[in-house]
Amino acid sequence: MIAFEDALKIIGSEPVSTAKEETDLDTSLGRVLAEDIISDTDMPPFDRSAMDGYACRRSDLGERMELIGTITAGGSPGKSVGKNQCSKIMTGAQVPDGADCVVMVEHTINYGDNHVIFTGSHTADNIAFRAEDVRKGDVLLSRGCLIRPQHIAILASAGCTSPVVSVMPRITVLTTGNEIVEPGEKLSGTLIRNSNGPQLIAQVRMAGVHAHYGGIVRDTKEDLHAAVKAAVEASDMVIITGGVSMGDFDFVPAVLKDYGVHLFFEKVAVKPGRPTIFGRKDDVFVFGLPGNPVSSFTIFELMVKPLIYRMMGHSYTPPVQKLAMGVDFSRGKADRISYIPVIIDKEGEVFTASYHGSAHIHALHQANGLLGVPAGIFSYKKGDIVNVRQI
Ligand code: AMP
Ligand code: MG
Repeated sequence: MIAFEDALKIIGSEPVSTAKEETDLDTSLGRVLAEDIISDTDMPPFDRSAMDGYACRRSDLGERMELIGTITAGGSPGKSVGKNQCSKIMTGAQVPDGADCVVMVEHTINYGDNHVIFTGSHTADNIAFRAEDVRKGDVLLSRGCLIRPQHIAILASAGCTSPVVSVMPRITVLTTGNEIVEPGEKLSGTLIRNSNGPQLIAQVRMAGVHAHYGGIVRDTKEDLHAAVKAAVEASDMVIITGGVSMGDFDFVPAVLKDYGVHLFFEKVAVKPGRPTIFGRKDDVFVFGLPGNPVSSFTIFELMVKPLIYRMMGHSYTPPVQKLAMGVDFSRGKADRISYIPVIIDKEGEVFTASYHGSAHIHALHQANGLLGVPAGIFSYKKGDIVNVRQI
């Protein structure tokens, strides 16, 4: 059994190779930039009014100013503004030569005689100066950026309609177990429905990747071998659930080794998730996750997701918050780091969810965080500051 931190280090240091491809702006959400985005223009591209008002010279603010024109957004700035003159100007329009400030409409009187008087006591410039946000040639977004809606705005403003992104890894999810049937099946006797497969596919999807579902594999070495071979040949990552612990029919580790997958570890000091395995055959990564649904969910979040992002060229930072416990918490054993489903309430306080152990999938239904309890810590008091990872 290896330490949880060592398992993360091994996963985090395995080399990955990432190819790139062009995509469309429309479909780039959730993809990872494979190249820096360079600005082809100053932003703003010209001195731009930040207000609806009058462009004039600050030194004339005490005078009656002659109104010499109107400048619209997208229109020409027209005549240069001279002494005791002003031009009406709209937000986003180019500030005319000669003007060094824009006074807000609200701070002026226009008697309709083509003259404007400033009624305020002072004014800001109200001008967004050329290149004050970005200079032509600046890096707007860096390689590795996971594209979110605000990045789409930046790509659009830079005229980047075909961003170059990392090719998504091909991921196959395999479920194992003689007792497992698909969710559409009626239950009878000792059967249980496959919840891990759909859960894992959904977790992969949340990371922005479409996973291929390899089906339910029966607990025989032959079936497993055939399914693993097919999955490894077609994928960059294979995620197997179930069949990894000490039972007589838990053949996954043996079959992987037999097929030539190098296993870096087969047990990790983490709860839930001790019988987690991680291996590699050539360029293909293989995870074996415990069959219990909470373990499968948790280990995906902790170990699999960061590697998927790295395969996409993105360095993933888990969303961990420091929050106060809303209740006392204690546990009987503290030999392993533990991740406990918790509910962060509206005030940001942390409450443990009703949790009977790693088979208790319903414990996650209200949980919005995983409380990380380091090895050696037996309890927290209400008010203690703890680390909670959002899920
Ligand atoms: P295993 O790791 O195969 O020993 O499975 C541990 C527990 O998880 C057993 O109770 C299994 O029935 C259950 N389990 C395994 N695979 C799944 C699955 N795909 N969906 C729901 N439960 C599962
Ligand atoms: Mg099993």
